[in-house]
Amino acid sequence: MDNNFIEQLQNVLEEGQVSLQEPMERHTTFRAGGPADYFVRPKRRQIQPVVSLCRQYQVPWMVIGNGSNLLVGDKGVRGLVIELGRMAGISVEGDVVQAEAGALLSATARRAAEEGLTGMEFAAGIPGSIGGAVVMNAGAYGGEMCHIIKEATVLTKEGEEKSLSLPELELGYRKSCILKNQYIVLEARLQLSAGDKETVFQRMAELRDRRTEKQPLEYPSAGSTFKRPEGYFAGKLIQDSGLRGYQVGGAQVSEKHCGFVINKEKATAAEIRQLISDVQDRVEGQFGVRLEPEVKFTGEF
Ligand SMILES: Cc1cc2nc3c(=O)[nH]c(=O)nc-3n(C[C@H](O)[C@H](O)[C@H](O)COP(=O)(O)OP(=O)(O)OC[C@H]3O[C@@H](n4cnc5c(N)ncnc54)[C@H](O)[C@@H]3O)c2cc1C
Repeated sequence: MDNNFIEQLQNVLEEGQVSLQEPMERHTTFRAGGPADYFVRPKRRQIQPVVSLCRQYQVPWMVIGNGSNLLVGDKGVRGLVIELGRMAGISVEGDVVQAEAGALLSATARRAAEEGLTGMEFAAGIPGSIGGAVVMNAGAYGGEMCHIIKEATVLTKEGEEKSLSLPELELGYRKSCILKNQYIVLEARLQLSAGDKETVFQRMAELRDRRTEKQPLEYPSAGSTFKRPEGYFAGKLIQDSGLRGYQVGGAQVSEKHCGFVINKEKATAAEIRQLISDVQDRVEGQFGVRLEPEVKFTGEF
């Protein structure tokens, strides 16, 4: 712990915005993961000074949104975690929705629906933030963020704000240029179109019901653990490898949906990671396909 760094952080932020040794299990939907050395919840205007302090004190930093695609190691994160939950403004102008990075997809989709805008229904049930959804090019039921993103504002690691157009974001299947450039997504503008409010709400409800029926939402998880391999479905490969219900400690391949690894009972991050690796090995041994995790691993295991 660097006391000067902590003091400087406290000068930039307000009471309650900085914590030390913050358990990351509180901030990830897997409900696993050890403590972050430093943890902050800045407002938009405070991010830049926070990042510049990290540079000055050579403290590594990372950003999280809703922690719904993250497995943090049991020994936690060395350095600073910046959580964007306080940056959640959403505004609408015509058929463009502007949302800050910490706004939840559910809240953004609801707001769009209230304005009678269509195009974002697919994202309403994805439990991530706008920032995380840009990073991952989140998608479901035939929709993807790349279909609706017009542009995004990012903070570069040198501390400059810049606007990236859709092609500049390099969105592909569950990927973008954000992580490799160490950008922080600050906000995104989404291009939707005029629709019928009731139909939009109806479609969102329909998709929500499909999720509840198919996915083990009653357990902590990070959604689909693996990317869809070309020509296959991860869940089917896992099921056909005889891994339905396979368990390592408290972590389990969901019995309801084999594409989900769930935290069935107080699993450690190490157990979850071991289970993921076992699944990869078993599926590869059986079908010659190496599943690639969609979930991001971070911190020390
Ligand atoms: C039950 C369940 C269902 C799911 N269903 C789907 C689905 O249908 N489709 C789908 O695509 N995903 C799904 N997911 C996965 C997840 O919700 C998405 O990947 C989502 O986009 C992640 O957003 P997040 O805010 O939680 O990101 P986090 O998990 O917080 O972060 C993900 C990555 O993005 C980085 N990051 C986050 N915010 C920023 C930012 N502002 N700037 C820079 N980097 C950032 C983090 O460092 C990390 O590397 C599901 C997850 C769960 C738990």
